[in-house]
Amino acid sequence: FSQAKAVSPVQTPTIAPLADVVGAAECAPLSDGTTVRYANFDYAASAPALTAVADAVADSLSTYASVHRGAGHLSQVTTRRYEECRETVRRFVRGRADDAVVFTRNTTDAINLAAHVTPGDVVVLDIEHHANLLPWVERKDKWTRIVEVASTIDETLAAVERELAAKPAALLAVTAASNVTGEVLPISRLASIAHRHGARILVDAAQLVAHRPVSIVSHGIDYLVFSGHKLYAPFGAGVLIGRTDWLDAAQPYLAGGGATADVDVEAGCASVSWHTGAARHEAGSPNVLGVIAIAAACDAITDLGHEWIGAHEAYLCAQLDAGLAEIDGVTPLRVFDDGLERVGIAGFTVDGHSPREVAEYLSSEHGIGVRDGKFCAHPLLDRLGYPDGAVRASFGLGSSSDDVDRLLHALRCLSDRSA
Ligand code: PLP
Repeated sequence: FSQAKAVSPVQTPTIAPLADVVGAAECAPLSDGTTVRYANFDYAASAPALTAVADAVADSLSTYASVHRGAGHLSQVTTRRYEECRETVRRFVRGRADDAVVFTRNTTDAINLAAHVTPGDVVVLDIEHHANLLPWVERKDKWTRIVEVASTIDETLAAVERELAAKPAALLAVTAASNVTGEVLPISRLASIAHRHGARILVDAAQLVAHRPVSIVSHGIDYLVFSGHKLYAPFGAGVLIGRTDWLDAAQPYLAGGGATADVDVEAGCASVSWHTGAARHEAGSPNVLGVIAIAAACDAITDLGHEWIGAHEAYLCAQLDAGLAEIDGVTPLRVFDDGLERVGIAGFTVDGHSPREVAEYLSSEHGIGVRDGKFCAHPLLDRLGYPDGAVRASFGLGSSSDDVDRLLHALRCLSDRSA
């Protein structure tokens, strides 16, 4: 993935939000009865919708109808729009022309679909979000082999290579960016390793697509999954994009209308012929508005430009890292020692305070929202030595250096109180 330009926080005194997001003016109540503008540091959980996305959804709400069902004007318009969204997503992640773009409920659903169609063993890393671990380990009759990451990325890649060389696997399933530390993994190198040993690669891009350009073709990705709600679109829609052969060979993920080409009942028995392509795995009426929102988010991010997004994020990351480093008792979380590039996520702990205490203090005394806990990555938090979890501050297009200053000021106050 392209390196975001390193921007020193010293060069410019402040930077503003890069885009308008809904809820930016929201006020949060404080314990003293006053209110303050809410500072949202929980983008990695769900990013607020871009106003451009909210507008696209509002437009579509005024004229939509069922897709793939009716011959009426609105049904045809909506069906066309829904199908165009597949092409928008394909363009956004530089998919191959013959990749299937399947709309799912979210990343978790997309990985469960991938687990359903994958014909053999899978190799995963032990830093994965549960969404890229549990669907694999819950499969019957197929093995999931979990590689322990090392303290450097080179040693980790060597461990993955050893695992795939020792015993073939159908798939290597890896996160593109850690939801705990924000570290970005070298996906092209992982793809080359997988392919060298006859495996395919699935990339969990839930934490990457909103932050960096992704190219299925140039990174050699076979399957890519992500969620709309982390891409500045609302909840309820996600994507699996990738090679069609496994998808077409497997039984449909859901059985029902829309996935079938033909159904006959004879002598009390049903015989069904299923569609191939995306429709095979999209039974039932789809989340048309969610899909329109994802496409609108892809277009809005393309219009903003990845260079600007990377620079905005790198600036805020540098400002936050520099500030955290100066606060007594704050320890940043990292998986790797190599100083990997990060998306806008900072995991940390504060001595003398449980993660929940920190999060509650930031909320009730400063109107700042962060996440605390184990971030659905229990094996990683345990391995890093934080069985009680940590705090995660994450930001994005609606964040500013004023927000970062507020967070740092609040953490300094907490640290001073404990001194
Ligand atoms: N993968 C990663 C890296 C994530 O951070 C998340 C959510 O936090 C998921 C998968 C699951 O996403 P969703 O809850 O949208 O299915």
